[in-house]
Amino acid sequence: MAIELPENVMVSRLDALASWCRKNSLWPMPFATACCGIELMATGAAKHDLARFGAEVFRFSPRQCDLMIVAGRVVMKMLPVLQRIWLQMHEPKWCISMGACASTGGVFDTYAVVQGIDRFIPVDMYVPGCPPRPEQLIQAIIDLQDKIQREGTITGREFATRERQLRKRALVEMAGPLAIDAARNPVIQSELRVHRS
Ligand code: SF4
Repeated sequence: MAIELPENVMVSRLDALASWCRKNSLWPMPFATACCGIELMATGAAKHDLARFGAEVFRFSPRQCDLMIVAGRVVMKMLPVLQRIWLQMHEPKWCISMGACASTGGVFDTYAVVQGIDRFIPVDMYVPGCPPRPEQLIQAIIDLQDKIQREGTITGREFATRERQLRKRALVEMAGPLAIDAARNPVIQSELRVHRS
């Protein structure tokens, strides 16, 4: 039997509503290390107006962010800092790898530069280019919003960190505390050994 709904009443699933709220209120954590960072700044400026997508509230405290945007190359020495900031962000959280350097190391094919951050933290969206234009980053955010709407649950299936990392190709399970000093960080040292061999 069909139920007559009064005007202005909509019915939805709680999951869909929670995901809709999440996707439209992303708070980015900028991890800008090089030239791609300038394009990231341009994306947040008036001309491109990230506020149209609800993602303009950049914060520099990981406790307040749920979207990490890595823009630029990451060197091995900086990696523990990146991982620590990622760990300090609350769940659910997402990551965009912006530009060739963050995604693959770019032209810096050397032992000192991370050859793709997805070897160490789980990445949801990759933005190609050197540097990518702000429109490309905006497209990645729109695609991520679609993904959040599709995948999110209020029961928190997406919080299963190990499973997520496997799916997102990250090699490292970051359960315990990581040494901020690269020389004492076992994960970084084993990666360096692979490069040397
Ligand atoms: S991808 Fe190009 S623009 Fe971006 S950080 Fe690397 S060299 Fe700079």
